[in-house]
Amino acid sequence: TVSVALFTSDLRVHDNPVLRAAVRDADAVVPLFVRDTGIHRAGFDAPNRLAFLADCLADLDAGLRRRGGRLVVRDADVVAAARAVAAETGARSLHIAGGVSGYAMRREARLHTALAAVGCTLHVHDAVVTALAPGRIVPAGRDHFAVFTPYLRRWEAAGVRGTLTAPRAVRLPDGVESGPLPERAEVAGVSPGLAGGGESAGRRLLSSWLHGPLADYESGHDDLAGDATSRLSPYLHFGCLSAAEVINRARQRGGPGADAFVRQLAWRDFHHQVLAARPDAAWEDYRTRHDRWRSDEDEVEAWRAGRTGYPLVDASMRQLAHEGWMHNRGRMLVACFLTKTLYADWRVGARHFLDLLVDGDLANNQLNWQWMAGTGTDTRPNRVLNPVIQGKRFDPRGAYVRRWVPELADLADGEIHEPWKLTGPRRAAIDYPEPLVDLAEARARFERARGLG
Ligand code: FAD
Repeated sequence: TVSVALFTSDLRVHDNPVLRAAVRDADAVVPLFVRDTGIHRAGFDAPNRLAFLADCLADLDAGLRRRGGRLVVRDADVVAAARAVAAETGARSLHIAGGVSGYAMRREARLHTALAAVGCTLHVHDAVVTALAPGRIVPAGRDHFAVFTPYLRRWEAAGVRGTLTAPRAVRLPDGVESGPLPERAEVAGVSPGLAGGGESAGRRLLSSWLHGPLADYESGHDDLAGDATSRLSPYLHFGCLSAAEVINRARQRGGPGADAFVRQLAWRDFHHQVLAARPDAAWEDYRTRHDRWRSDEDEVEAWRAGRTGYPLVDASMRQLAHEGWMHNRGRMLVACFLTKTLYADWRVGARHFLDLLVDGDLANNQLNWQWMAGTGTDTRPNRVLNPVIQGKRFDPRGAYVRRWVPELADLADGEIHEPWKLTGPRRAAIDYPEPLVDLAEARARFERARGLG
């Protein structure tokens, strides 16, 4: 008998319920990855993620080869390819991770029908992409949690499934054809400082994280210059690491750092269960505030380019361009700046993030953008972050700004977050823009638009 393990957001051999079930189910398994033309049409194959994906697939292939198999790659519509592989091999079952986006749900429904036509049964596995399946816990009378704190309480009480070991052997049926693996070097337009992808790299990073910086995470995670977060997000996004395993291993380490880190992973599950219940929230307001967003393309372009004249905003945007990644504190600030200070539509910013972020993820990105824009699940939707105050608090010595905005490198710690206060020749000597907008005026404009005060 033959089964198919269709890899999607679970590019790993360890702790993978999909691969485990496919191996248990049959004598031979086709580990299949489809470079889905539907994802391409939807504009989600941004260069940074394509390059990272190439690393992930090469490493997954290596992991499968060590177990006697290999990765089968096809370039096609995912449903057509799955059906073709099932028909070619006579597979009786196909295993896949449950997804949360509208696209993933439609894919599941289409797979179900297409596979039935060739005598193959679809098995959708929960708690592969998230630690807890969306819908596993719900408040009374509702299909999802709209507020994080009560979600977290129930999430912690529910616990996470145990970690599965990797299968020892993966036997491929004879004669299955595969296209070539994509190559990272073939992807154009990649950020120069992009991290390397793959399960092996992810597992190494996880181990060094758990045995080192995790202990200081609670106190250090907001220190922009310290760069003291795990940077595991791309590995989690592509499923090189399983969220359940990361949580189980962090809990084994224990302590306040581990507790704070696990809470961040609960946010990931929280946003996924919101999107699963409200797939439209990917591009529609989760809660409308009747915003009539401004559309000033020059301002948005200055934001994208990291030339707003606000050093912390600009440093963060330049980190994004250079690495395809940004610190969470920076993401919050630049999202707030775009949506509340410039009062531009959150979708414009979310799209730019998806074009560049290596961890760019529909659930996490769109719902964090909505959170910052005040159209999402934030219970204080109108708070505005001030880039100068944020700078003094989270980058007090200006080291983060100096790293990314070298034109300001010679300014003193006390000056660096307010370069417009410089005068005379010292001001003339730096090639850095004046502030794009006046913060007080922008705030008043936002408050008027939202009908406050
Ligand atoms: P750590 O601080 O080490 O946290 C550990 C893990 O917890 C992260 O890897 C991530 O999986 C999860 N996590 C942490 N914070 C959040 C959060 N607020 N929401 C959901 N999960 C979280 N994260 C993405 O993975 N993809 C995105 O596209 C994305 N877009 C964002 C857009 C905006 C506007 C904002 C404010 C946040 C966004 N985040 C996104 C959440 C967060 O900023 C990143 O997950 C985090 O910065 C990744 O760095 P890290 O792995 O070092 O995080």
